[in-house]
Amino acid sequence: MPAPNKRPQLEDSESNRLLALEFGLEDASEQSGDCPIFPGLSDYVQLVGGATLTAAETLKTGFAEVAIAWDGGRCAWILITSHCTTARKSKASGFCYVADCTLALLSLKRPTPDIPKPRIMYIDLDLHFSDGVSESFHSPNSTGSSQILTFSIHHTSPGFFPVSPLAALPTPSSGSFDPFTLSIPLQQGASSATFPRIYSLLNRAREIFNPDYVVLQCGVDSLAGDPYAVFNWNIGGEGSMGWYVDKIVNEWPGRKLLLGGGGYNSPNAARAWAYFTSIATGSPLDLDTEIPDHSAFPQYAPSFTLDVQAGFMQDTNTPEYLQSIEDAYVDILAALKFRLS
Ligand SMILES: [Zn+2]
Repeated sequence: MPAPNKRPQLEDSESNRLLALEFGLEDASEQSGDCPIFPGLSDYVQLVGGATLTAAETLKTGFAEVAIAWDGGRCAWILITSHCTTARKSKASGFCYVADCTLALLSLKRPTPDIPKPRIMYIDLDLHFSDGVSESFHSPNSTGSSQILTFSIHHTSPGFFPVSPLAALPTPSSGSFDPFTLSIPLQQGASSATFPRIYSLLNRAREIFNPDYVVLQCGVDSLAGDPYAVFNWNIGGEGSMGWYVDKIVNEWPGRKLLLGGGGYNSPNAARAWAYFTSIATGSPLDLDTEIPDHSAFPQYAPSFTLDVQAGFMQDTNTPEYLQSIEDAYVDILAALKFRLS
């Protein structure tokens, strides 16, 4: 975080405007791009980054077993770190102005009296590939084990943001393969029919890696009703996003950090994160719970309840496609196990 007296005054001058552009920020008046400058931007960056780091700190000190920062989960922002093996600049990207996921991982990685060499598993459920986080820790030439494993479940197709070779299914024979940088790309319409099979692979990776901390990025642009309209995930029942949260938070050992992420249907984002909070605190709400009266109440029409149900989009992840992912993960998880042995 910059000291207050060193904050760039991004709105003030042409030179600062050019500086902002260099860091991936766009002029709001141009009405284009994902990362316009807005008043209070530097405060926003410090609040989001500070909230996620504070949540991570409560886990490190043992104050909490589960910590939540729903405003965090900004996984596309590229941060220059000593781990970064690419030549990308430090820049805002994809609605992300601060690399709070990466900052949390770097913080959790540091030794504490009770965990001298922590292992952290980062799981990203956002519709988009977690390029900022995965690329920060991608280390294809390393031969040892890593303290950080990133696992992104997302959609990718030609031209779909973000474009990254790491968004594809990993190939152990490739020179860029790193068993600590894992991805599962899913096709249009991914739903609760598809996600249980993906969970089995995720859980297997967790069993092999045996993390002390799990950071779960819950981007909800993968839910039905999001303007992206690519996945058709729901929040309740077997195979749902809530089912993932329940299994990871309540069945897996270790301390958990829950972060938000994408999600552009605001009422559904509020529904999902409220429901996941109730799961994480051990008091899951009924999905028929009525939305309480408040100023945004009309936006919850027509159901006015907590649930986010799947729509009618076809799930194009065929049994053959899912089988090809499972087949690939036999070698991927064997490579992970070998590197940890
Ligand atoms: Zn997203």
